[in-house]
Amino acid sequence: MFAKKVSKTFLWGLRHVSGGKQVLPVAVARQQHTQAQGQPVPSTRPETSSAKSLMDIGTRRIFNEDHDIFRQSVRRFFQEEVIPHHTEWEKAGQVSREVWEKAGEQGMLGVMIPEEHGGIGADLFSVAVIWEEQMYSNCTGPGFTLHSDIVMPYVSNYGSKEQIERFIPEMSAGKCISAIAMTEPGAGSDLQGVKTYAKRDGSDWILNGNKVFITNGWMSDLVVVVAVTNREAKAAAHAISLFLVENGTKGFQKGRKLEKIGLKAQDTAELFFDDVRLPADALLGEVNKGFYYLMNELPQERLVIAGMAIASCEFMFEETRNYVMQRKAFGKTIAHLQTVQHKLAEMKTEICVGRAFIDNCLLLHSEKRLDAATASMAKFWASDLQNTVATQCLQLHGGWGYMWEYPIAKAFVDARIQPIYGGTNEIMKELIARTIVSQK
Ligand SMILES: Cc1cc2nc3c(=O)[nH]c(=O)nc-3n(C[C@H](O)[C@H](O)[C@H](O)COP(=O)(O)OP(=O)(O)OC[C@H]3O[C@@H](n4cnc5c(N)ncnc54)[C@H](O)[C@@H]3O)c2cc1C
Repeated sequence: MFAKKVSKTFLWGLRHVSGGKQVLPVAVARQQHTQAQGQPVPSTRPETSSAKSLMDIGTRRIFNEDHDIFRQSVRRFFQEEVIPHHTEWEKAGQVSREVWEKAGEQGMLGVMIPEEHGGIGADLFSVAVIWEEQMYSNCTGPGFTLHSDIVMPYVSNYGSKEQIERFIPEMSAGKCISAIAMTEPGAGSDLQGVKTYAKRDGSDWILNGNKVFITNGWMSDLVVVVAVTNREAKAAAHAISLFLVENGTKGFQKGRKLEKIGLKAQDTAELFFDDVRLPADALLGEVNKGFYYLMNELPQERLVIAGMAIASCEFMFEETRNYVMQRKAFGKTIAHLQTVQHKLAEMKTEICVGRAFIDNCLLLHSEKRLDAATASMAKFWASDLQNTVATQCLQLHGGWGYMWEYPIAKAFVDARIQPIYGGTNEIMKELIARTIVSQK
């Protein structure tokens, strides 16, 4: 069983041990929210607005002590295994394979994937701890969340028994790095424009086309590829299927690592498929159902982006608070200036308002009640806030904020992609608006 290979200290944080029986944190979290009679139990945990730092461990009522222990281990992982290497990875345009395997050994990949599928089998709140700690480390290089919380659910939810057994344990171990390839040079927001085509040939499929902007694409061992399988269909809803394409398959080529203005250590690549012959069992789920699978999984992708956005705001705020309390101008620290204090007060209030909404979305998603429009609100609002906070925090750093050696510079450029990928914020507003006008 995969879980046995994972570090014991890590799993101790991930699983609550009670009376010799292992209980997953979600069960503990539920106990905190309701008593046997259905009455809410008051939590004594401070919310971030009253905490000393927005990144404190031991805060927020959605978490419990087991999540805190897990958070300590994840924080240590980013401090010891990621931060010291990040500059080198930024120059290389990719992280090492070693860090993926270390993350696997520590039980940080496939955390929410059921144990019987080869995942860790923990709850959504444990997963959120990983997103948050990655943003608190200000190291966006490792594409762990895309792999674990965006790609792995496709394999786990729609894969056959054989596909699950073949890929999930390796993915959880960090030995099989994954990507999802939807976007094409001529099709981003509009999936109707997808041209990549898989044609039946006996029981096989022949795949042709190319994809662009694929996160983890360069390092990927496994790619979930979105392709048209029914050219006669009038809408994408009935035209698209998903395929599992492995690195090394004849005709599958990776293009260059794309040069980006931010996310310097995260690889983003072009992928080319030239008469790639795929066996029948490369199809993920049912033929022509790909669009439904994408629609089902996108709310989680949007929640991931929102969760990382608000955590980045918390990081940038604390970084800036420290800076203004040290930086001197006109004989005093700039934190003495009322304009600076008011800016900090405004930012903290907005971040805490955002945090309350995102935590509520996490709670809803843990109960499978997060709808697509609410997830879109979270993604659009939190990623826009992240960019506002990045601009304001950089401004408070003066010229030093423009220097790459200052963490705020990196956080600023990394923020810029958030309103674009995972569905642009304009598309988010379309999705939200549709539910508003259709209610009449
Ligand atoms: C760093 C990075 C990583 C990425 N990772 C991945 C990945 O792993 N996998 C993947 O498949 N894709 C990935 N993408 C692609 C990303 O999801 C797309 O770039 C995004 O969906 C937008 O598509 P587009 O770039 O084609 O822009 P377009 O769709 O051409 O949009 C251009 C502009 O027009 C606006 N627009 C388009 N349609 C509408 C409309 N109906 N109403 C209002 N405005 C509209 C958009 O909001 C945008 O402002 C990544 C992109 C980047 C830059």
